[in-house]
Amino acid sequence: MTKASFNVIVVGGGIGGLAAAIGLKRKGHNVTILEGSSSLSEVGAGIQMPPNSIRILKEYGIYERFVPYVTKPKNIILKRFDTGAALSTTPLDPDMTDVYGYPYLLIHRYDYQKILFEAATDLGIEYKLNTRIDRVDDATATIYAEDGTTYTADLIIGADGIRSRVRDTAVVNDETVLPSPSGNCAFRATVSKEDMLADPVIAHLMTDINSNCWIGYRRHVMAYPIRNGEMYNIVMSHPGQASVGKWNEPGDVEEMRAHYKNFDPVVRQLLTHVKTVLKWVLADLPMLPRWVSEHGHVLLIGDAAHAMLPYLAQGAAQAIEDGATLAEELDKATSASDIPEVLKKVQKRRKRRVETIQAGARKNGHIWHLPDGDEQEERDALMAARDGHSPDQWSDREFQQWLFGWNAFTD
Ligand SMILES: Cc1cc2nc3c(=O)[nH]c(=O)nc-3n(C[C@H](O)[C@H](O)[C@H](O)COP(=O)(O)OP(=O)(O)OC[C@H]3O[C@@H](n4cnc5c(N)ncnc54)[C@H](O)[C@@H]3O)c2cc1C
Repeated sequence: MTKASFNVIVVGGGIGGLAAAIGLKRKGHNVTILEGSSSLSEVGAGIQMPPNSIRILKEYGIYERFVPYVTKPKNIILKRFDTGAALSTTPLDPDMTDVYGYPYLLIHRYDYQKILFEAATDLGIEYKLNTRIDRVDDATATIYAEDGTTYTADLIIGADGIRSRVRDTAVVNDETVLPSPSGNCAFRATVSKEDMLADPVIAHLMTDINSNCWIGYRRHVMAYPIRNGEMYNIVMSHPGQASVGKWNEPGDVEEMRAHYKNFDPVVRQLLTHVKTVLKWVLADLPMLPRWVSEHGHVLLIGDAAHAMLPYLAQGAAQAIEDGATLAEELDKATSASDIPEVLKKVQKRRKRRVETIQAGARKNGHIWHLPDGDEQEERDALMAARDGHSPDQWSDREFQQWLFGWNAFTD
């Protein structure tokens, strides 16, 4: 049987779109990415790379490209917001590699996107910047760009993020899908290695490498070194508002510090070194009725299909899993007429898992942000028991095995 090669257009060249394009190109398809921005758009902040995504990057043969840019944390430590006392410790290195076969890594978002971009272009994938999509016609598999250009393909992938035009015009066009704001925003900031090491109160955060997360009522601070120890990344969740899908709104540094005025003195000292801050709204998507268009020419992946709260650090990893499963399923198609069935199979393999992870992230947000009182004391006692069960989804043995042990190629 001859292997079929299809013309695939990926709308959106973020982490999800790039990784899917690489997976598809490796299987012999012709892949073009249409990206609306004028340059690589990931902002100056960190992102965690769990083992379920590293498995895929290794299979794609691009893992080595990441090695000079990543940091390997020893643990994820949940800490009490005001004292910094450890509430729960999830061992990461070497445990993740020992248990799941792949490490847990930290990286700068820009490095992540750039490495994927270089890997994609090295494979011969065309990446068209400044190509913002207005709408997609599913019946004719035609993409209409804002500049009036049209494109057709055998398969169109909507990887255009939480405010996806592909979703709204071609897949779920019979109702309005509105992202659900969580009521919280994230301030994002980085501090240089030099500033960190020169301050004795916070220098240990740079030398004792962990993902630290101080949790308290409606707020938490997640922080870790990135760029192979060149800078320290801080994500600060707090009650607030910003525009959905706009990832680089400038924030107010004084307002940021005020949100954490009763936090651990280590956190407060860390925040004295922050010079500028970005603000993102934290929103997820409601469960969609479908990810595949009526005529079967269009599939949604990543945040376009299942944007989630970042409290399990899985959004990008799930986008990467979507692409891996798609590449495996499409490999079984012998002609373009098989594509609609292939896409339905991808949806079937992916949707329930991702919705469970979306719910797990919401649950972690609830658990972390409890006010001091009975529920918080019960939470802390359950975390301290270390019996394999934990209200924190990262530490719960059963959930963790399912989350990190997943093989998106063969699940
Ligand atoms: C505070 C925070 C922390 C997070 N931490 C983690 C973490 O530690 N680990 C993790 O795995 N995930 C994390 N995530 C989630 C992760 O960032 C997202 O899930 C992931 O970036 C989604 O990738 P994507 O490619 O699907 O979408 P996006 O990154 O949104 O990319 C969409 C792309 O499409 C382009 N685009 C949009 N509209 C159009 C259009 N009309 N035409 C053409 N192009 C278009 C955009 O310019 C963009 O390049 C976090 C998210 C937040 C908010």
